[in-house]
Amino acid sequence: MKDLFKEAMSRFAAGVTVVSARHGEEERGMTATAFMSLSLEPPLVALGIWQGAKVLPLLEAAQAFAVSLLREGQEGVSEHFAGRPRDGVGLTAGRVEGALAVLRCRLEAVYPGGDHRLVVGRVEALELGEMGPPLVYFARGYRRLVWPS
Ligand code: FAD
Repeated sequence: MKDLFKEAMSRFAAGVTVVSARHGEEERGMTATAFMSLSLEPPLVALGIWQGAKVLPLLEAAQAFAVSLLREGQEGVSEHFAGRPRDGVGLTAGRVEGALAVLRCRLEAVYPGGDHRLVVGRVEALELGEMGPPLVYFARGYRRLVWPS
C-alpha cells in the first residue's frame, strides 16, 4: 500500500514552494510541494509539513511564516531547502529572492494529519515577482511547463 500510495502521489504535478519562519535568532526554510490555496475570504493557504520538520516549531513560536513560490531555474534552491545544501543559497528578508510570489502569513491553525501537520496561514502581505514559468515537480523530478513564447 505504501509504495503504491507513493507511486500514485508521484503522478500529481505540483508547484514547488519554500516555507520559512524566523523566531529570535533562528531562521529556517524547507521545500514543500504540499501547498494549496484554501480560502479567498479570508485569504487562507494550507501546507502539509512533516511533524519532525525543524521549521514547524519555529513557525508555531513565531505564529507567522512565509511561502515563496519557486520559478523555473530554482531547482538548486529547492534541493538546498530539502536538505541537499548548495553554496550561496539562503533566505533574504525571510524569503527566497527571485521567487514568482511570496505570501507572508499569520499562523491560523495547525491540525494533525498522520505523520504530517496541516498548517493553515492567513495571508497578510503579498509580493509579486516578475511573471514567468514555475518550477514543477512531477514523477520524482523537476519538470518544465510548456510556456507560451
Ligand atoms: P533542515 O534540515 O533544517 O533544512 C533543510 C535544508 O535547508 C538544510 O540543508 C538546511 O541547511 C537548509 N536551511 C534551512 N534553513 C536555512 C536558512 N535559514 N538559510 C540557509 N539554509 C537553510 N516535506 C514536507 O514536510 N512537506 C512537503 O510538502 C514536502 N515537499 C517536498 C517537495 C520536494 C520537491 C522535495 C525535494 C522535498 C519535499 N519535502 C517536503 C521534504 C523536505 O523538504 C525535507 O524533508 C526537508 O529537508 C526537511 O527539513 P528539515 O526540517 O530536516 O530541515
